[in-house]
Amino acid sequence: MTSQTLDELIADGVRGRHVLVRCDLNVPLDGSTVTDDGRVRASLPVLSKLTEAGARVIVMAHLGRPKGAVDPKYSIAPAAHRLDELADFEVVVAEDVVGPSAQQAAANLADGSVLVIENVRFDARETSKDDTERAAFAAELAALTGNQGAYVNDAFGAVHRKHASVYDIAALLPSYQGDLVATEVKVLQTLTEAPKRPYVVVLGGSKVSDKLAVIDNLLGKADQLLIGGGMAFTFLKAKGYAVGGSLLEEDQVATCLDYLSRAEKLGCDIIIPTDVVVAEKFGADAAYEVLEADKIEEASFGSTGLGLDIGPKTAELFASYITSANTVFWNGPMGVFEIPAFAEGTRRVAGALAESEAFSVVGGGDSAAAVRTLGFAEDDFGHISTGGGASLEYLEGKTLPGVAALEG
Ligand code: ADP
Ligand code: MG
Repeated sequence: MTSQTLDELIADGVRGRHVLVRCDLNVPLDGSTVTDDGRVRASLPVLSKLTEAGARVIVMAHLGRPKGAVDPKYSIAPAAHRLDELADFEVVVAEDVVGPSAQQAAANLADGSVLVIENVRFDARETSKDDTERAAFAAELAALTGNQGAYVNDAFGAVHRKHASVYDIAALLPSYQGDLVATEVKVLQTLTEAPKRPYVVVLGGSKVSDKLAVIDNLLGKADQLLIGGGMAFTFLKAKGYAVGGSLLEEDQVATCLDYLSRAEKLGCDIIIPTDVVVAEKFGADAAYEVLEADKIEEASFGSTGLGLDIGPKTAELFASYITSANTVFWNGPMGVFEIPAFAEGTRRVAGALAESEAFSVVGGGDSAAAVRTLGFAEDDFGHISTGGGASLEYLEGKTLPGVAALEG
């Protein structure tokens, strides 16, 4: 099954037509300052193509997780203003999602310019479990396009969500796959269909239970799985080690044990940390020590320490696996990289990946932010994915609703 491409839409002619584009503008903010504009920049090529062809573009996107109501903290405005700074086209920002401000701005939109409507998650129907509620919201979004509208989904970071602006809208307008989504899907296909071996997967971060699920599907595919970040502690616990106050999913210990025994049978090595950076508390001013992975509770400051990074021996070990790999997928920082004392594991892994000749994919919002804030150049990596959850669900073998909705 294939979807219609953006180029096909442009070939059909878009001058003067309203094109509704679902973008991923879900950027990290500090107050109203965008601290990492990677997703805004990743959205530019499609918007430029459309505006250059004379389309009247309406961008819809979400930011954070407002609870289905207007919450100024999650306004899309800072992301839209960043888009305006980076873009060659004109950008207008509406004060609401599908209300009078958005309607009027859409009606007045000039050829080749862009309107960004407010955070679609300010409307509870966007994420509703009720199909009719979502469909009603999708119809109001579609109505912004008048009678010659089209829909482009370029929000790879949201394609794993069955939401109105990602899924339901595709049934209402002629629909096309944006170039960013197309590229991301192609890269992930390479990983799942024919990865050059050795194929190493590095997993970390803090969304432990979400990420444990991908391991199931990766066991039969990857040659080595390197486990760092928060999820390492559930594996260490499964090995029988005490983990102090570290992140732990007690109810997943049995799952980890099962993975460890299946991995052996399937010829996949699961590599877990042999040493850990243990902090007295969570914070930039915390005392910390490097300890063997089975001695986490033996720190000089007591037994309740938190493992906040992989230790230097583990970082070297992970780096050596990465260096000999031909394909690497990495999702999730190795430690709390936002705090310099706990950023070294992530820096070492990113450095090994940047130097390697392997085809490398970095997935996940925080992982991508980590490689950028630690000072690596984006083109040191094969591909930096804009979608963490989406890429993981793809690797899990799940259907992505936002991709499927465009096919057919
Ligand atoms: P991504 O967005 O790349 O998918 P996650 O959202 O799962 O990654 O996790 C990123 C977060 O994980 C970072 O904010 C980092 O500080 C945190 N983290 C990494 N290792 C640990 C750890 N050992 N304990 C607690 N938090 C951790
Ligand atoms: Mg994250």
